Amino acid sequence: MPSPPSTPPAAGSLQALADRCVQCGLCLPVCPTYAQEPLETESPRGRIALLKAWDNGTLAPTEAGDAHLDHCLGCRRCESVCPAGVEYGALLTLGRAQQRQRRRPGIRQRTAEALAARPRLRAGVFALYRRAWPWLPAAWRPMPRPPAETPRPPGRPAPRINEDASATVAVFVGCFAEHYEGPARAALARLLAALGIDAAFPDHPSCCGALHAHAGDTDRAATLSRAVSVDFASADIVLSLASGCHGALGETLGERAVDALAFLAQRADALSFSPCRERIALHVPCTQRTVAKSDDALRRLLARVPDLELVALDAGFGCCGAAGTQMLTDPERAARFRRPLLDPLAGSGATRLLSANIGCRLHLANGTEIPVQHPLEFLAERLI
Ligand code: SF4
Ligand code: SF4
Repeated sequence: MPSPPSTPPAAGSLQALADRCVQCGLCLPVCPTYAQEPLETESPRGRIALLKAWDNGTLAPTEAGDAHLDHCLGCRRCESVCPAGVEYGALLTLGRAQQRQRRRPGIRQRTAEALAARPRLRAGVFALYRRAWPWLPAAWRPMPRPPAETPRPPGRPAPRINEDASATVAVFVGCFAEHYEGPARAALARLLAALGIDAAFPDHPSCCGALHAHAGDTDRAATLSRAVSVDFASADIVLSLASGCHGALGETLGERAVDALAFLAQRADALSFSPCRERIALHVPCTQRTVAKSDDALRRLLARVPDLELVALDAGFGCCGAAGTQMLTDPERAARFRRPLLDPLAGSGATRLLSANIGCRLHLANGTEIPVQHPLEFLAERLI
């Protein structure tokens, strides 16, 4: 057994972050993996203890321990209720970075990371995937069919917004979202135009690196973060459409990263929407609640649509299961988290489902025939 460290752990080190946990257990009831399997090892407190023991050498890594860490969804619900201020997200990234040094990620994870970081490769693969999709067996369709290419929203080169002539608004596009969020970006451009704002869309979108950081590839995440810094060097405000990217963008761009829904909600008095007599289901992604914190802003925007009947989806285990790349690397497990959301959706009479995170939308859309959209698409449709 190793001797205890003679000096206190450096601030920001795994030990220092883990030492803040007072083991009160208040995070256990909000943890989706603990809700599904009520074992200490499937809880935030158990994972923190495991990471600390691995780090200080009191416990050797095992396959079972690795699996408990793999199961963590990275939803950070634990962090949002922790009275001791444990930065669980940072701890998880450090723990997974250590894990990655002794265990190579699987082929699906490596493929997802390569596609996210290499735009030209990704463009070719997604174009092929879209063409082949109708003929692929279900097991070969890990994600829905990408939409047909949407005309690029106008707004190049980076224009000035009219209300505040010194501010430039740009939109973060992202990696996989580049191929799926064309309609959401067009919707955002319409909503911004209604406010008199002409936003800039980068020509060669970079990945924010969240997918890599989530899996412990901190070097690649840092490289991508630097590319994002360069892309948006001249922007005063960078709008994010995906709550899953928002945390990484915030770490790179600081307060210049603004959730698009929060941005619109602050200016909602200038937006008018036509009545809608549909019943629409709303899914609030974990990251929208715990990181982007734009769920209230979204509700305020939707409340401005007259006659809209909103059905809030039951939280199920508390997470849809998309969880970074879990929907690709462990689809069966991911589907178990999705089921308690999709069953009530099917019986709700809702004509569509809204969700503000790209990963959640892809995962949910792969399990239902009901159209799944970004809330911006719905709002732009009702714009008067
Ligand atoms: S709520 Fe915070 S301090 Fe309490 S067990 Fe969970 S992580 Fe530790
Ligand atoms: S991030 Fe989510 S799944 Fe992971 S320990 Fe925290 S609450 Fe549980």
